[in-house]
Amino acid sequence: MKLLIMGPPGAGKGTQAEVLVKELNITHISTGDMFRAAIKEGTDMGKKAKEYMDKGALVPDEVVVGMVKDRLLKPDCAEGFLLDGFPRTLEQAKALDATLQEMGIKLDGVVNIAVPREKLMARLTGRRVCRGCGASYHVLFNKPAVEGKCNSCGGELYQRSDDNEEAVGNRLDVYEAQTQPLIDYYAAQGLLLNINGDQDIKKVLEDILASLKK
Ligand SMILES: [Zn+2]
Repeated sequence: MKLLIMGPPGAGKGTQAEVLVKELNITHISTGDMFRAAIKEGTDMGKKAKEYMDKGALVPDEVVVGMVKDRLLKPDCAEGFLLDGFPRTLEQAKALDATLQEMGIKLDGVVNIAVPREKLMARLTGRRVCRGCGASYHVLFNKPAVEGKCNSCGGELYQRSDDNEEAVGNRLDVYEAQTQPLIDYYAAQGLLLNINGDQDIKKVLEDILASLKK
């Protein structure tokens, strides 16, 4: 099974990716890990990527696609893979398609985990951090014993500025603007699998597996 997974921040994409690769016995390729490995191994693409990163520049799409290609050629991808974190834009999706075609690889599906915006806002703005020890809580999922106070040191809990409504709203806007063309692109190819991510983790996995069987 050769798959992509997409989802906005807060949709639980990382968690689903982990359970899905175990269930399907395929290799999880997260772009972050792939970058770190390519740089550490000193591959040609890794070296190129590092040059850009050292300059604080964005790594160009052709370098990222080159890294993806190197990664897909490794034996652990022969039975299948789940690509996570790439592509993020329509241009990247087209570049990836060209490379996959060259390699004779056809995608089986693109899993798109969707969660209503107000739910994402609640998830993403709920984090609270302790001023004393830095421990992290969540007003919905990981409440402290006493509201506003750290369980371990009694310190005051606060909301980081990048977790406030405006910052989170902006992050979601950027994601939506970048991703919508991508969603349309894969839908037109008949590859898009829209999954309701506003459910129990197990149920989300069940829905993904059911949609893959269709
Ligand atoms: Zn604390």
